[in-house]
Amino acid sequence: MDTQLKGKVAVITGGSVGIGLAVAQGLAAEGVDVAIIARDGERAHARAAEINAAYGVRTLGVAADVSRADECDRAVAEILHAFGGVDILINNAGTGSNETVMDATDAKWQYYWDLHVMAAVRLSRGFVPAMRARGGGVILMNASICAKQPLGYEPIYNTSKAALVMFSKCLSNELIPDNIRVNAVNPGLVLTPDWVKTATQLTEGTEQTAEQYLDKIAKDNAPIGRFGTPEEIANFFVFLCSPLASYSVGSTYFVDGGWLNVVA
Ligand code: NDP
Repeated sequence: MDTQLKGKVAVITGGSVGIGLAVAQGLAAEGVDVAIIARDGERAHARAAEINAAYGVRTLGVAADVSRADECDRAVAEILHAFGGVDILINNAGTGSNETVMDATDAKWQYYWDLHVMAAVRLSRGFVPAMRARGGGVILMNASICAKQPLGYEPIYNTSKAALVMFSKCLSNELIPDNIRVNAVNPGLVLTPDWVKTATQLTEGTEQTAEQYLDKIAKDNAPIGRFGTPEEIANFFVFLCSPLASYSVGSTYFVDGGWLNVVA
C-alpha cells in the first residue's frame, strides 16, 4: 500500500516513548520528517537521532511541556523554523491519573485539562496557519477508550479525554473547508511504560505483582485477551494521516481489541 506520505512533515507530542514513539517511527518509515515534543529533551533528542539514522528522514527533538501555553508557542516556533511548514499534528502526549472526585484538588483537574485539552487547542492554533498555507493537513488526537467507557480509578483522565474527543469533532467541523482532516483515536489497552507505572502504583503493598495485575486486566476486559502493542495503534494513525483516508473526517475510531462494551 502506498500511503503517499513521503516528504510530509509531522509533529508528534509525546513522541519519545510508547504510542507516540511508535507513531513517529511508523510515519518515518513512510518517508515523513518528524518532530518529537516531550518534556525530557535528552530522550526526545536521542529518539529523534535514532529515527533519523534508521529511516533517513529529517528529525527534530523538542523539549517542551505542552501543558503550558508559553512552551507550546515556543515549540511551534522552533518546529516551523526548522522545517518551514507542517502537514500533520498528532496530539498524543498524556498520562493516566488516580484519584476520587471528592479528594482531587482543583490544581490536579487544571493540569489534566491543560495537558489533554489545551495542548491540543494551542498546538492546533499554532500549526493550522502553516497547514492552510500548504493547502491542507491532518490533525489527530490520541484520546482513549476511557473517553467513552470510564475506568473507576481515574475520573479526571476519563473526563479530560472525553473533552478532547468533543474538541476533535468541533475542530474538524471548523477546518474541513481548509482541507484539514481532524479525527480522534480511542485506544484500549496498550502496553507502554505508562501502564507499567500505573500497575506498579496500584499493586504497591499488595500480594499481586504489576505483571499479574496487567495480565488480569487484559483477560478480564479485552475480548482479545491481551494488551495491544504501540505498533498496532501506530499503524492505524499512519493510515489516518494518509490521503488514503481522505473521507475520514470528524470521527472517533476505537482500536481496543473489542473492549468497548457498546456499539459506538
Ligand atoms: P507514555 O507514558 O508511554 O508516554 C507519554 C509521552 O508523553 C512521553 O513521550 C512523555 O515524555 C510525553 N509527555 C507526558 N507529559 C507531557 C507534557 N506535559 N508535555 C510534553 N510531553 C509530555 O504514554 P502512552 O504511550 O501510554 O500514551 C500515549 C497517549 O495515549 C496518552 O495520551 C494516553 O492517555 C493515550 N492512551 C494510552 C493507552 C495505553 O494503554 N497506553 C490507552 C489509551 C490511550 P516526557 O515524560 O519526557 O514529557
